[in-house]
Amino acid sequence: MFKLSAPVFLATLSCAAFVAAADLPASRPVPGGIAVLALDGDERPVARYDGKRVMVIGDPGNWSAVVGLPLSAKPGQHALEVERHGFREVRNFEVKDKQYTVQRVTIADDRKVNPPPEDMKRIERETVTLDAAKASWSDVPAPPLALALPVKGEWSAAFGLRRVFNDQPRQPHSGIDIAAPEGIPVLAPAAGRVVNTGEYFFNGNTVFIEHGQGLITMYCHLSRIDVERGAEIAAGELIGAVGHTGRATAPHLHWGVILNGASVDPALFLQARE
Ligand SMILES: [Zn+2]
Repeated sequence: MFKLSAPVFLATLSCAAFVAAADLPASRPVPGGIAVLALDGDERPVARYDGKRVMVIGDPGNWSAVVGLPLSAKPGQHALEVERHGFREVRNFEVKDKQYTVQRVTIADDRKVNPPPEDMKRIERETVTLDAAKASWSDVPAPPLALALPVKGEWSAAFGLRRVFNDQPRQPHSGIDIAAPEGIPVLAPAAGRVVNTGEYFFNGNTVFIEHGQGLITMYCHLSRIDVERGAEIAAGELIGAVGHTGRATAPHLHWGVILNGASVDPALFLQARE
């Protein structure tokens, strides 16, 4: 009996490893990219980067830490802290340089570039809320890593652009912009839970979905929000509609992907792009 069952067991193991590898995004250890690091151990290890929990997926003996690297990450050696059975070790990895292009944008409403003090108060309050939404975490063992495009349209601004608004340098572009007419439905790219909805100064009407282990997608400038906070949603479900609320010059979807609190390039999670 043992001789018969052993090859079956091995076949099952290699099949599981193949499925996990197919869904894994490619390792792109650059600012705004992701580092995929192989980890061993029988139990799923707990990993932290920059003090924040990091996604760990896979099977016993064959784990992968999927680390989101912020656009502000400096090229050089970085450390992943790995915890197993109460023991901590540091796993070093290299972040390579990446130069993003500069984009100059003219915004007619200068209040959206140089907000007056009363708007600054609102922005500071909202930053706390937005940071909390970006730090959401649920311990889903196998989060969906292959995302579908939430809306079809031309990519009007790439991820990571170093932005200059009205000749003044501002935060780099933390997502991709997809141009689409006002009112076009925006669909969930994978299953998840709505962790925040709101109307924000820069982002306009916004929805955040957490897909598991700190993988969060963000939808901004919506004309309409069709989901409620706390709702569990399926892949392809209606979230809202394209608009130009907040700081937007024309109707488009700003789509952000956040991993362990870092805004990363959404393109890394797109399996079939149209
Ligand atoms: Zn944008």
